[in-house]
Amino acid sequence: MREIDLHVHTTASDGTERPRETVELAAKAGLRAIAITDHDTVLGCREAIEAGQELGVEVVPGIEFGTKFGIAVHMLGYYLDLEAPALTAMTRSIVEDRDQRNEKTVKLMQENGINVTYEEMKQRFGEVIGRPHFAHILMEAGLAEDVQDAFSRLLGKGMKYHQYRHTLEIEEVIECIVNSGGVAVLAHPFQYKKNDAELRELIEHCMKFGLKGMECRYSGYTAEQVAYLEALAEEYGLIKTGGSDFHGENKPRIKIGRGIDDNLEVPYSWLEELKKVKNT
Ligand code: AMP
Ligand code: FE
Ligand code: FE
Ligand code: ZN
Repeated sequence: MREIDLHVHTTASDGTERPRETVELAAKAGLRAIAITDHDTVLGCREAIEAGQELGVEVVPGIEFGTKFGIAVHMLGYYLDLEAPALTAMTRSIVEDRDQRNEKTVKLMQENGINVTYEEMKQRFGEVIGRPHFAHILMEAGLAEDVQDAFSRLLGKGMKYHQYRHTLEIEEVIECIVNSGGVAVLAHPFQYKKNDAELRELIEHCMKFGLKGMECRYSGYTAEQVAYLEALAEEYGLIKTGGSDFHGENKPRIKIGRGIDDNLEVPYSWLEELKKVKNT
């Protein structure tokens, strides 16, 4: 049953659709519920929740944090208290760090003759600015064909406009989610290129700090991969979640609720399980 999508980005981070537009797309797709999981911010949640009330789509407040456990690992948080001091402090510090990194990128671009200022970018793209926004600047300057091209030649690690930013430790992020009343869920486990033993090590480490779930269904994951992740989640007593990682035109192949080539299908019963752990 294609009923929910628990991994969705909006213009509050690097998606191209406003929170309201995103909920409209979900309604059109016939979804019963979506979670807004913007990178490092919950600023899109309120608008989406309001739109959801009007359009009959249940909107779950969420977030996606970048963390590290040796390599970059993403952590989803659901049902956080949007006003929680722990959450506000964490998102503020991430934005400050992004600002520092982004100012360096802007300076480099200016030195290379690209007409851009950070003030303009903030006005246009909002508080949480990431490399996908720089991809748009490069496209407009005629230096990249599309977002993918910008990443593969100019913004990826080691490329001309790549700059490092501070990444939080996985423990601090899980603790922040827990201290904000939220449910921590490991995002897209196959993105980390870990073998079975390494993935188990990651899961067991995260569970010590309060991990409650794992994203088992995700755009592009094969039936075999999904079966493996679902079995692993069940073995560890983690709840299963699923989502598309919709970003609008920034990831044009991914459709909300449907993933890539219709290969995503997440039942509403999984959201009911998520709500149960929220209340424990
Ligand atoms: P940042 O956190 O600002 O360094 O940017 C990272 C974000 O860029 C990720 O969360 C993705 O949404 C996006 N991204 C990373 N690699 C690619 C890629 N190859 N193509 C499109 N988007 C990407
Ligand atoms: Fe993104
Ligand atoms: Fe992610
Ligand atoms: Zn995401």
